[in-house]
Amino acid sequence: MEQLYQQVILDHSKFPQGKGLKELVDGILGAESFQKNPSCGDEVTMRVAYEGEPGSATIKELSWDGQGCSISQASISVLSDLVTGKSVEEAEHIAKIFRELMDTRGRGFASDDSAAEEKEDALGDATAFTGVSKFPARIKCALLGWSALKDTMGKTGVLVDDDVADTATN
Ligand code: ZN
Repeated sequence: MEQLYQQVILDHSKFPQGKGLKELVDGILGAESFQKNPSCGDEVTMRVAYEGEPGSATIKELSWDGQGCSISQASISVLSDLVTGKSVEEAEHIAKIFRELMDTRGRGFASDDSAAEEKEDALGDATAFTGVSKFPARIKCALLGWSALKDTMGKTGVLVDDDVADTATN
């Protein structure tokens, strides 16, 4: 279990970033998403305000409230730090890398993956969740916030890539 609860995860669950819902202002492109992980009881409500046109929008503000295990809550906090201020494209890129990390069964990115370093750089603190990918039941906890973010992208239409938009509704 030691691997599961890295210091970064403990810190973020103790001092969550972006926690506390903020109002979505009228006239601003934004959406709210509620996601639940019934197998663990984790919940999140996330509000994301976007700026700019679909295709070149950026994440202006992200706020959330939630409850559940420290992995789910810390993951939302890390996400909040990682994507606020980034373009939708960059945020989606990071989300894809994070989902890829969750598929590595605790091993992390392969040493023969020439992009491994670049991926770790993009993830920053989120690499602390590598150990979580060993436990299939906990992967859902770590992905909860990322599902909420993607849902807000789908609802606001900021994602222009059809393939990406399609998977958001699944
Ligand atoms: Zn959980």
